[in-house]
Amino acid sequence: MGVLVLNQDFTPLALCHVNRAFLLIFNAKAELVSESKSRVLRSISQSYAYPSVIKLNRYVNLPYRSVILNRHNIFKRDQNKCQYCGQIQDLTLDHLIPRSRGGKSIWTNLVTACLSCNAKKGDKLISETDLILYKKPIKPSFIMFLKNLNHQKQNEWAPFLEPKSHS
Ligand SMILES: [Zn+2]
Repeated sequence: MGVLVLNQDFTPLALCHVNRAFLLIFNAKAELVSESKSRVLRSISQSYAYPSVIKLNRYVNLPYRSVILNRHNIFKRDQNKCQYCGQIQDLTLDHLIPRSRGGKSIWTNLVTACLSCNAKKGDKLISETDLILYKKPIKPSFIMFLKNLNHQKQNEWAPFLEPKSHS
């Protein structure tokens, strides 16, 4: 089970393994913000809070943290579904503006497509086909990728992954 690591200013930074989180706390590099309500860590003689969210004691400066553009991450952004027909098998990448027409290999021009939709689209623009794009591709932020980890996401994380309110 992953642990959400917050920067010293409470912004989400990364996920780490519970053992690492425990050591960071133990070595006073981080403090426990929120513990899992359903689990405890046990040693032979003691039990400890099972970290769910920890916060680093020193600020880590990572101004250019972004999600790497690759096939795996584009599939992930698109929830492993063809963005034209929703199929989840035989996936490949489609350039919205085809490369032959100067389309670039960037987040906003690449979508997940199945082989058959990809073949239908070929060197055409969507408007020249009967395909309908499910959603406009965007460049994901690191935090968005954390939010997408639904299978590991824990309730304790929610307050830290929501946008800050401007009150
Ligand atoms: Zn398709």
